[in-house]
Amino acid sequence: MKEIVLSGIRSTGNLHIGNYFGALRNFIRMQDTSNCFFFIADLHSLTTHPDPENFHKNVKTVLAEYLASGLDPEKSVIFVQSTVPEVSELYTLMNMWSYVGELERTSSFKEKVRKHPNNVNAGLLTYPVLMATDILIHKAHKVPVGKDQEQHLEMSRVFARRFNNMYNVEFFPEPAAYNFGTDLVKVPGLDGSGKMGKSEGNGIYLTDDEKTVHRKVMRAVTDSGPVNPDAPMSEPVQNLFTILQIVSDGEVVRFYEEKYKSGGIRYGDMKKQLAEDICKITLPIRERILEIQGNDKYLDEVVKYGAEKARASASKTLAGVKEIMGFKWF
Ligand code: AMP
Repeated sequence: MKEIVLSGIRSTGNLHIGNYFGALRNFIRMQDTSNCFFFIADLHSLTTHPDPENFHKNVKTVLAEYLASGLDPEKSVIFVQSTVPEVSELYTLMNMWSYVGELERTSSFKEKVRKHPNNVNAGLLTYPVLMATDILIHKAHKVPVGKDQEQHLEMSRVFARRFNNMYNVEFFPEPAAYNFGTDLVKVPGLDGSGKMGKSEGNGIYLTDDEKTVHRKVMRAVTDSGPVNPDAPMSEPVQNLFTILQIVSDGEVVRFYEEKYKSGGIRYGDMKKQLAEDICKITLPIRERILEIQGNDKYLDEVVKYGAEKARASASKTLAGVKEIMGFKWF
């Protein structure tokens, strides 16, 4: 049996090329080797009280972006969390073996309390319980997580173990972190330092048109040129080379590396090439995003198909849990 890999997707759209090369491209590859579940975590997003219009729009944007990038509803189970009511039912049960003390000690909860003291709702406290439910309900073996989610994954292991011990069963497998190893790339931003991120405003988005990509790349921070090509490269220039290595052919990269070393590099030329190579990858995706966003019928089919497959798997687990806990019909 192929191992089950599950990944949650935040329901905030507008993916940048950092998301694409850092995470999404690995997900797309993973579809051929694992039994993948990808879901849009719309219930989780309710902790911030989004207005209904935006709530729905965000799910649509994210779904269109992931499908356009190559997540395939035939290869994977792609679903929206709230369309699987079994998740909410298991979440209720899971809350019975999660303790307030351990939830209050979670770093992400403490951070939210500090940042948003006026909205410390119970959903925020039990966020890791819902996350564990998402994972355990499909008996996932592997979960790709970023650093900020490691503690939540550890809690999922604790909850799985606790249930197994409490009822003296070997029911839930303990989920492990999926490690992309050397495939993991960090895409730097265009502002000279640090990584590309949405809140940093230093990114190129999959929905950016050709003109926007060129304008952003041409404005990217560089330096005044290699004063001494043997000295270490400045960070902004190193960052541009890093993006070039990700999007361009080896020959192009070597050409500009040589130019840099010989002291004859013209950053304007390199940026023009970089923008063109980014566009080669992102523009076809952009076109598909727009197409999918305009096709509600297709999106509806994808969501219904995903819900059907996810519910089949979730209801099996839920039935098992309920039987173990002693729920019975008369
Ligand atoms: P975010 O929505 O910013 O939390 O990003 C979602 C995921 O995209 C992260 O967990 C990373 O795997 C990936 N990601 C985001 N920004 C970058 C980046 N600049 N370079 C590589 N991967 C990234």
